[in-house]
Amino acid sequence: MIDELSHILWSSPTLRPESDCACAEETGSPVMLCSSPGQIMDSDCACVEAEALSESVWRSSTTPDCDCACAEALPASALALAPNLWQLPETLYRASLQQHQTLVFNPTGRGVIAALDASALARLECFARPQTLTDAMDRQLAMLGLISPLDAPVEFPAPQTLTAWLHLTEACNLRCTYCYVHQGPRAMDEAVGIAAVEAVFRSAVAHGYRAVKLKYAGGEPTLVWPLVPFLHRYAQDLAAGTGLDLRATLLSNGTRLTGSMLDWLAGNNLRLMVSLDGIGVGHDVQRPFADGRGSFDSMARNLDLALAADVALYLSVTVTGRNVAGLADTVRFALERDLAFHLNFSRAPEDVAQVQNPAEQARWIEGLRAAFAVASTYPGRRIDALLDLATFTAPHTYPCGAGRNYLVVDPAGRIAHCQMRLEASVTDVWTDDPLAAIRAENTSFSNPPVDTKPTCRTCLWRHVCAGGCPLLMCNTVSPYCSLYRALLPEMLYLEGLRLLKATGSAA
Ligand code: SF4
Ligand code: SF4
Repeated sequence: MIDELSHILWSSPTLRPESDCACAEETGSPVMLCSSPGQIMDSDCACVEAEALSESVWRSSTTPDCDCACAEALPASALALAPNLWQLPETLYRASLQQHQTLVFNPTGRGVIAALDASALARLECFARPQTLTDAMDRQLAMLGLISPLDAPVEFPAPQTLTAWLHLTEACNLRCTYCYVHQGPRAMDEAVGIAAVEAVFRSAVAHGYRAVKLKYAGGEPTLVWPLVPFLHRYAQDLAAGTGLDLRATLLSNGTRLTGSMLDWLAGNNLRLMVSLDGIGVGHDVQRPFADGRGSFDSMARNLDLALAADVALYLSVTVTGRNVAGLADTVRFALERDLAFHLNFSRAPEDVAQVQNPAEQARWIEGLRAAFAVASTYPGRRIDALLDLATFTAPHTYPCGAGRNYLVVDPAGRIAHCQMRLEASVTDVWTDDPLAAIRAENTSFSNPPVDTKPTCRTCLWRHVCAGGCPLLMCNTVSPYCSLYRALLPEMLYLEGLRLLKATGSAA
């Protein structure tokens, strides 16, 4: 049975007598199976955003977070069906599936992954020669973003959300092997916290944003718990006063969550992102307590409490050379609990260095492939938005919002581009417009659009991964480029097979 929220099945009941193309010779009703855009997962960076996805077409397009500086996307040109000529997009991706179906995906389209039978594909290919829309199927191809208006440049809408990482404390009760945060005793006090929230709203209003997203982070933010509800109440007041939407996520290692914290998160619609790196010892080797004990058991116990409390829960998995072999089990753990999750590539220098080695790359690919194979067996879950900063759902030109629509505030109120660059602050919360200051300082930090990156600008996947984390650009290309190139086509193929299976069309 088709899950109505994640698929549509379209079948043209008529032939096309008025067409002057070769497809007029096709017999039978063209059939097109489509997987609608999915969710953009939260990660601990400035995540990809997909809020521009049109709800007039897709009813399921909610937008989870990531733990980075989320990017935003969707070509505005795709939203209107202009009465002019339409054409095949230059970068349309096609691959053979089972049962004479062809997988089709437009990397600059609307995030739709489609399986077309021979008749539907023939009609689609007719648009190699620009022409007008002549019937319902043509309009459907246009609505799904599988064909584009002639000569219309791909445009990416401006972000609507200003995101801020509030680094509430430097302290943590864990000693994760890949952690990039300086640990220390400093914590934000209430006065700095209030100034930080005010600064975020001040810049949001000044730059015309419609929403503010706060990430309560650290260190481990539950160590300074009363500060979270205190600041969030203040942010709620500012949101009400300014008319801006407010969204918020607590980024936690999950070991210190209590029933009252979870009830408060659920009652105030905060998302909870918990880090999970493996099952049992697979988690413990990367995420031990300060005294060396493993943290899996207490974290997993609290996940169950969070589920029982109905908290909007997401798992953030940091992939390293140490846990990549166990990723399939980690993904299964998440899916068995129906939890959303995201796979982040480690930013630790040793992982980044090791993954340059072809043998190590092959090991990562094998581990990730096994994880996707597990994911593909779960119905109702699109194979997407799982791989660090890459998503089919939301074509994007910047990998993250750092330097554009992202502020990172340290415990002293200093503001930096990225949580990995806390020590390189460029302004503070007492500045009139900290976002303007962050944008103006582009010598110490650079986040260029992918179309300007020499190694990426002609790549088919450039609007799917956008070149990866800007801080990791070694020798001008992402150290994870080979993984993107190897796995993105495989993910599309798996999604195509899942689509056939969900609609009873698989072999
Ligand atoms: S620069 Fe890299 S680490 Fe920083 S927010 Fe962007 S993707 Fe995340
Ligand atoms: S990082 Fe690699 S896969 Fe991504 S756009 Fe650049 S060249 Fe393409």
